[in-house]
Order: sequence, then structure tokens, then C-alpha cells
Amino acid sequence: MSKITPQPGIMDIDLYEGGQTHVEGVSDVVKLSSNENPYGPSEAALEAYRRAGYDLHRYPSSDHAGLRKAIADVHGLDAERIVVGAGSDEIIAFLCQAYAGPGDEVIHTEHGFAMYRLSALAAGATPVEAPEQQRVTDVDAILAACTKRTKLVFVANPNNPTGTMIGGNEVARLAAGISEQAILVLDGAYAEYVEEYDGGAALVEARDNVVMTRTFSKLYGLGGLRVGWGYGPKEIMDVLNRVRGPFNVAGPSLAAAEAAVRDVAYAEKCRIDNARHRIWLSEALAGHGVPCDISMANFVLARFADRDEADACDRYLKSQGLIARKVAGYNLPNCLRITVGDESGCRRVAHAVGQFKGGAR
Ligand code: PMP
Repeated sequence: MSKITPQPGIMDIDLYEGGQTHVEGVSDVVKLSSNENPYGPSEAALEAYRRAGYDLHRYPSSDHAGLRKAIADVHGLDAERIVVGAGSDEIIAFLCQAYAGPGDEVIHTEHGFAMYRLSALAAGATPVEAPEQQRVTDVDAILAACTKRTKLVFVANPNNPTGTMIGGNEVARLAAGISEQAILVLDGAYAEYVEEYDGGAALVEARDNVVMTRTFSKLYGLGGLRVGWGYGPKEIMDVLNRVRGPFNVAGPSLAAAEAAVRDVAYAEKCRIDNARHRIWLSEALAGHGVPCDISMANFVLARFADRDEADACDRYLKSQGLIARKVAGYNLPNCLRITVGDESGCRRVAHAVGQFKGGAR
């Protein structure tokens, strides 16, 4: 038995389980458990990735200048205030590491993304949960949870795993109500799925304590390459660059992300396709007696009568080669989160849920 103990809080961290990728004994599997783009990345991104592969003996860029410029050009932002991470998970971790420690509080919403809590614990800080209203972010509850010890407030908009979103006025009210001693982090992992939404960039410009995080893992189809970014006030971004390792993102990942963000037409095609399939899937599931909240992201949250029914449906879907995601760990035991797939994936999962509700087990 080792006498060496980790820092307080570390053993409270549950191991994060990624979405299941295969089912024993089933070969024709559709993975709908991790909100990935069913079509993968654009051809331009793949080509850039392959080309970058010839330089594997070289360290990657340490300042990510090429990717930051591409993001700044496409989104109309200041490249100097962008920080690139190995997924937006890493930006979340940098924020906790740099701004929250023992005695500090980090607020996340009741059904908010797990990494906020886990990164707060890893930094030695105390995660604090703010209740939601019917699976929607509740600004008043977050403001009521704020104390003098609050250092960070994480809100994903749209939220994962609910898919719900709050409007610009509500986000602005939240930003205005938070102390200037705390940072509001608007997690825009699914922002690209929302038509004409800046992910909170305008609020970042307007305030000194708002940071936006984004990812290449969802709409851009590059989850396997681990690229995300943050945008915020210069002083905060300078702090994040100090905790960031110099070569935190691999060269081929940077190259693919740069080409992906510049391929605006492909991203737009994926967004439109997702919106169409998401509406179809939500309506098909509702038609089978399984309602979903209005989702603005690339997944739907399917609600069952109770936990037993959700678990039984999950098992049935797996027996049919369809992998959804259980979200009991998000205090949603009667729900399954289902990624919006391509047309065939959506049809298959809706059909199987219909069979299950019809008595198939
Ligand atoms: N934020 C939210 C809300 C997410 O759902 C995810 C991925 N599941 C992330 C951040 C992290 O994504 P990544 O690290 O791949 O950028």
C-alpha cells in the first residue's frame, strides 16, 4: 500500500467513460454515443492532415499562429486573444488550474458537462451544482449559487446532454449578475449547430470576465485529433498560455483544424443536414411515445417513463447495433442521449425505439 497520497479532491474524481464504440457479437454498429459528425471531416481537412504527416519528426508550432489566424479570419475575432488546446477539455482544465484552487468554488449546472466538475476537483477547488428548470439552464439559480468564493461559472449553450439553449438576453443577464472577481465560461462546443450564433463572442468583447470555448470535435468532425480553443480578454488568455504546455496540440491536428475552419461550405452543409435530421428524429421518437426536449445541438435527449425503461431500451438498441448514451450520471436516469446520425442512422434508431415501445426486448 503506497504511503504517497494525492492532493485533496483527486480521489473524488470519477473516471470519465467515453462513449461505447462496439457491441460484443454485433458487427454492423452505428455509434450514436459521443455526438460525433456522422460524415467525418471535410476533404480539405483530411488532405491537410495527410500532408502534415510528412513532418512527424518536427515539433509542432508552439504558438498555433496559423490556426489562430484562420479562426480569427473566419469568425471575425482577434487572433491574439485565442488560445488553442488539445480539445476544449484542455481549455476547461487550464481555466480551473489557473483560476481555482483549494477554498474556491466552481459553478456548473445540474445537467452540465462532466468535465467542469472533474477539472475543478483536479485543481483542488470545490464544484458547486446550480439546479436547472426542466432541463434548461436557470440563470437565477446560478446567480443564487454564487458566493465570494466563486471563481468560475461554466455554462454550455447549447447544453450537453440536454441539447437545450438559453437566449442571448438570458446569457447577458447572467454575465451582468456575476461578480467581476469570477469568470463566466460560455462553452460553445455545439455553437456551430445553431444558425447565426456567435457562441458568446460579442459578450466576450463587451466584458472583462467572459471566456468562450469552442471545439473541432463536433461539427468539424475532428474529435480524434483533439483540437479546441478559447477566446477571451487578453489578460486571461495570457494566463492560460502560461499554464499551457508549449507543444500541447500535434502538428497534423493543427493543420487539419486550420483547413477545416476555412472550409465554410462543408461546415454549413453539415449544420443544415444535422438540423434536418434532428427535427426528423425528434418527431419520429415522439411519435413512438418517447418525447425529446427541443435540441439545438447534434443530439437529442430521449425521455422514457423511468430508469428501468431507459435502461431496457438502451439494451435493446445495443442488441440491434445502435449505441446510445446513458446519462444517469448527469442526474437524468430516465433519459438516453442519442446523437443525430446520417439519414440511415436516424431511421435505424427511430425504427428500433418503435419496436421496443411495441414490446420488442
Ligand atoms: N464541452 C461540451 C459541452 C462537450 O459536450 C464536450 C464534448 N463532449 C466538450 C466540451 C469537450 O470536447 P473536446 O474536448 O472534444 O473539444
